[in-house]
Amino acid sequence: MEENCIFCKIIKGEIPSFTIYEDIYFKAILDRAPANLGHTLILPKKHAQDIFDLPEEEAQKLYPLVKKLAIQIKEAVGAEGINIVQNNGEAAGQSVGHFHIHIVPRYKEDGVTL
Ligand code: ADP
Repeated sequence: MEENCIFCKIIKGEIPSFTIYEDIYFKAILDRAPANLGHTLILPKKHAQDIFDLPEEEAQKLYPLVKKLAIQIKEAVGAEGINIVQNNGEAAGQSVGHFHIHIVPRYKEDGVTL
């Protein structure tokens, strides 16, 4: 838990979120400003700033979960494609300093820019 971290507060339940998945390592929530319906964020429960700070255990558990949720979200919203995006550092467009993976449902010519 990091003070003043929005995602740590969401994980603790201090800030409301719409949770679509949770286990001992991760929580997956709907993005509050979705690029498309079903835009999801996967958050490690243990605070890590970015990929450079992500513990090995979380790193190893992460991609099987990304794959599972990408499949389920694609089916749930009838998406034609999925973007998996993960920004590290302000220079790379990271605005919340708690590691997260975006899963973004996509449709042909939906005009979304990531
Ligand atoms: P960017 O803001 O450029 O997408 P990030 O990769 O750091 O940069 O993404 C942060 C994401 O967190 C944004 O998509 C934003 O809408 C989302 N977000 C911020 N606060 C909340 C919140 N309280 N609940 C859900 N999503 C949030």
